Amino acid sequence: MNETLNDTDLEKVWQSVLAEIELQIPKQNFATMLKSSRLLDKQNGVAVVALSNNFHKLWVEDKYHKALFNLLRLRDTTTRDIKYVVQNTEPPTQRVQREDALSKFEFEKKQLAFPEFKIDPETNLNPKYTFSSFVVGSANELAYAAAQGIINDIGKKYNPLFIYGGVGLGKTHLIQAIGNEIKSLYKNRVRVRYVSSEKFTSDIVSALRAKRMEDMKRKYRDIDVLIVDDIQFIAGKEKTEEEFFNTFNALYEVNKQIVISSDRPPQSVPILEERLRSRFEGGMVADVSYPTYEMRVAILKTKLQERQKELSDDVIDLIAAKMKRNIRELEGILNILFFYQEQKRVPVTCTLVEEIIKKNTRRTPENITPSQIIKSVAAFFEISIEYLGGHCRKKEVVIPRQIAMYLLRDMLELSYPHIGDIVGKRDHTTAIHAFEKITQEVNKNNDLNQKIALIKELINKNKE
Ligand code: ADP
Ligand code: MG
Repeated sequence: MNETLNDTDLEKVWQSVLAEIELQIPKQNFATMLKSSRLLDKQNGVAVVALSNNFHKLWVEDKYHKALFNLLRLRDTTTRDIKYVVQNTEPPTQRVQREDALSKFEFEKKQLAFPEFKIDPETNLNPKYTFSSFVVGSANELAYAAAQGIINDIGKKYNPLFIYGGVGLGKTHLIQAIGNEIKSLYKNRVRVRYVSSEKFTSDIVSALRAKRMEDMKRKYRDIDVLIVDDIQFIAGKEKTEEEFFNTFNALYEVNKQIVISSDRPPQSVPILEERLRSRFEGGMVADVSYPTYEMRVAILKTKLQERQKELSDDVIDLIAAKMKRNIRELEGILNILFFYQEQKRVPVTCTLVEEIIKKNTRRTPENITPSQIIKSVAAFFEISIEYLGGHCRKKEVVIPRQIAMYLLRDMLELSYPHIGDIVGKRDHTTAIHAFEKITQEVNKNNDLNQKIALIKELINKNKE
């Protein structure tokens, strides 16, 4: 044979190579990888063989190249080498079906995934928190009105704005919505920065360490709107308190807008009480409290719509009736239900919902002990309790450790110093960091969400 093989010849030669190799390799492997392969071309002694995907290409190159080469060379002595390329090798009809199947799969994957939101590196805001996705009712209407009031009167009307209320009641959502709304209306004309007090603290610590306090000052003072989340965590850290106080004054004096959130009213936050009380008299203080039943139904419906999901009215009613005190927990229940719906393909009935709520909501501390939580987390990740509480910084243990701290706070409401103490005698700031990090992750990471749900099940089982 020579270089002038036409297409039909190429095809024939290759079919005869295939017929022979079929006898030499496992049947299944032949059927999946080689049966549909084709000899596309041959030039300068190099034959080009098409395989249907990259995995097949790697496999064939690794395992069958030698045999294929010898067989081809027996039939065409000018062959010097074989090159493999990836190309769809299936007949057209099959291909269409495959694409259909694939797009269906992609579609489902898209439906399944959490909507992806990217935190804006400049403002530190998460675009998912908007006014339009925020449900307003008697529990938060004052806070909402104040937040809206800022938009057209930045730095003047309600300055500072102080929003307070319990965990999971929408403080972060509302104050971030202020930032996002300002950003979308004023673009770059107004500089906004959102910061959790935990991040503010760590920025100060690293600025001090790197002797770059001036940079730090610029970062927080060259802005028009400063939003500080969970100010209560700043209290008690002297240098941070001092820097916050200075930043606050510097901005306030030039009429920049300040928005603060806290889990308690201003007079109960020590640093604020002493130094800034008078400032707050000129500003606005509003609380968010527990949502009413109607608000809970509305919130559930909003979340379903956002995620393009459906649940029956009975189920929505039931969740709204049971989940009264924390909107984040209410969302957590929804996430578990979606998981059952999609992954396990189980219909979501009221009985299932009752069961899931029972398993996943806060229990009174007498039922669950810290050691049950630690034991269950260690068991879930298949690591020892000593390793979990130890000081190794490997990822495989750092995340379980943070999850343990998160659950101690979330399920038992232990104080941060107490949590730090029982998880390897750590500082309370480590416990705060762990809780905040996992709380944020849980909101955007489906996988983590499910892990936590499973660990909670395990904790409840260990209890019985
Ligand atoms: P907090 O900061 O008070 O602990 P978050 O703002 O993080 O609470 O709210 C917890 C979750 O509940 C978030 O996912 C948020 O979007 C949702 N949420 C809270 N309040 C509302 C509301 N009024 N409307 C819609 N979603 C809400
Ligand atoms: Mg918050």
